[in-house]
Amino acid sequence: MAKIYFIDVTNRDGVQTARLGLSKLEKTMINIYLNEMGVFQSEFGFPTTKHESLYLQANLELAKMGVLKPIRLGGWIRAVAADVEKAFKLVPTIKHLNLSISTSDQMIRGKFLGAKSRQDVTNMMVDAVEAARAHGTESVGVNAEDASRTKMDFLIRFASAAKEHGAERLRYCDTLGYDNPFTIYESTKTLAENVGIPIEIHCHGDLGMAVANSLAGAKGVIDGGQDAYINSTINGIGERAGNADLVATALAIAKSKGFTGKYRLAKPVKLTKAWKISRFASYAFEVPIPINQPGVGANAFAHSSGIHADGVLKDPENYELYSFDEVGRGEPELVETGRAICSGEYTGISGFKHIMGQMAVPFDDTGQAERVLELARYANVEAQKPLIEDELLFIAKYPEIARKLLTLTPLQ
Ligand SMILES: [Zn+2]
Repeated sequence: MAKIYFIDVTNRDGVQTARLGLSKLEKTMINIYLNEMGVFQSEFGFPTTKHESLYLQANLELAKMGVLKPIRLGGWIRAVAADVEKAFKLVPTIKHLNLSISTSDQMIRGKFLGAKSRQDVTNMMVDAVEAARAHGTESVGVNAEDASRTKMDFLIRFASAAKEHGAERLRYCDTLGYDNPFTIYESTKTLAENVGIPIEIHCHGDLGMAVANSLAGAKGVIDGGQDAYINSTINGIGERAGNADLVATALAIAKSKGFTGKYRLAKPVKLTKAWKISRFASYAFEVPIPINQPGVGANAFAHSSGIHADGVLKDPENYELYSFDEVGRGEPELVETGRAICSGEYTGISGFKHIMGQMAVPFDDTGQAERVLELARYANVEAQKPLIEDELLFIAKYPEIARKLLTLTPLQ
């Protein structure tokens, strides 16, 4: 039976979100945590955007070193042949690409303003796929932007052309969050049956259904006989009302009625890492986790009313669908209430040695400590908030990679 995979798009859709962003080091930490969690692929950025080049290259080096392994790192670009050339010029070792173009009449009309037809859009996509193939990409996905508002007969022709020219996957983008579980199931099943290509499900929450639609869409693809790739973001952060939340979607696959056991992940996602990755994304984006967030919200395992508290104390399964330790909760957390020495862009060697000493990081000599401190200062310039322990440890362990991540040289 066909299986489900996760392609997390926090480092692409998440950072496109208005008012929010991540530093290159934070993006790298997200890739590391996604890898630890067992996520199949991270859409790690924009290979045609100049300020991403060194970050993307550094992360591909981490993959080569085995630090980011087995996760796949995929870039997002427009389905334009010239953009494929630019991507390979800026990031020559990139191996996985998703090529995006609008397919609905609304967007073809409304964005190209009469300059392009459906056939032109298909031709542009085909040229881009062939260009990507000519560069020896290991996998190419084609994104049908606004697929949910695209006429099915055209979507089938578009996806068939993508497949014929070497694309491995079609991304069905419910760009505006227009679908509901009933419609997306029919659409993805029809596509899978008629085109015979694995399908990515990319859902947005404008009507509050991103997670439900992701499940229904994946079910449609699998019932149509193909593998399904769900696009998620951590804490659901994404354009406008956001995307399908990684943890909630993984929980729904593992725990929801009738889904469990029948529709499976190709490899399990370690939900025990949910707490850590969710908290990091919240800190990095500076967006609090809602109190009622599935699995990781402060109230997800809180009970106060008489009947509920009594019931859960007698047997947690009375009022909890899953246990807090399944999502990595339950460890006590130490919060410093007294003196705090934090990292910052103006940190000096004494404070820095103190911070690193608390984490038992030994330095060979003062020169080495100074070099790592200098990198930490630059990381702070970008993040504008104290680095967390894992970030400092990363810099100390991979100073050359960190140097690359932190190098921004504009206007060259
Ligand atoms: Zn999106």
